[in-house]
Amino acid sequence: MGMTSHSVRRRRAATATATAVAALLSVAAAPALAAPPLAGPASPAPTAPAPTAAGPASPAPARSAPAASGRDASGGDTSAAGSGLAASSGAAPGAPLVPPGISRLAQGSGRGVAITIDDGPDPVWTPQVLQVLRENHVKATFCLVGTRAQAYPELVRRIAADGHQLCDHSVDHDVTMDHKPVAYQSQQILDGKAMIEKAVPGVAVTYYRAPGGAFTPASRAIAAAHGMRPLGWSVDPKDWSRPGLDAILSAVETELPERPTVLFHDGGGDRSQTVAALKRYLPWLTAQGYAFTFPARTTP
Ligand SMILES: [Zn+2]
Repeated sequence: MGMTSHSVRRRRAATATATAVAALLSVAAAPALAAPPLAGPASPAPTAPAPTAAGPASPAPARSAPAASGRDASGGDTSAAGSGLAASSGAAPGAPLVPPGISRLAQGSGRGVAITIDDGPDPVWTPQVLQVLRENHVKATFCLVGTRAQAYPELVRRIAADGHQLCDHSVDHDVTMDHKPVAYQSQQILDGKAMIEKAVPGVAVTYYRAPGGAFTPASRAIAAAHGMRPLGWSVDPKDWSRPGLDAILSAVETELPERPTVLFHDGGGDRSQTVAALKRYLPWLTAQGYAFTFPARTTP
């Protein structure tokens, strides 16, 4: 399918990716810089030149990209780790369009909650989840697997038409992606995005969630350079393992963190427990005074 434009896009993406990764590594190598170094001309350059949005000028360091440098520490990287990078349209290729830090907070400053739904679309379960969301006036974020979006484009269109946000969940959900070369990670991320976009032309894919949460600094930089905020979660009821309705509900109703981002699944197997849990959970959240919103995309 469209191999020429595809490979051109991929070559461009690879350039952007290299720049983004180089910029990210430079940032990581200069922890003394408290101010967001990519903010623009005002940022001082104490010793080493700070990377600027004019990425191509800064040569990539001799070291190679972190191919198998392991996934990000899952704990410490909150949305605040976005280095304060503001969204900036018209930036040079490779500059992050959104912060590369992992977002785990719902948007807003009040009692917001973000519901995220992973691993679909699925012809059996996605329509049921959409129905529960609709009945409860909830907008959620769907993390779609590229091959499934390709197989069920009409479901992607229904998700978008209902006002939910779209999240790229890679081409085929390889949870060992973080141990593979950056070029492979880039292909999984960018082709996954393209497969979703093909189903709903003109609709933005606004987040990227690594399969199994296996982010790497490179994958976060790649996603951010293409306008997709890396998306984590703060509440995981493990509904994918079918622990039973009571276990799911107790996991999501007790000790909710501030502005929680909750992880559910509409793909990957029998999701009847998830559907049942959502039917009880969404009204409960409303009764608790929560407002449904999307995960933060910019630094709060
Ligand atoms: Zn997943």
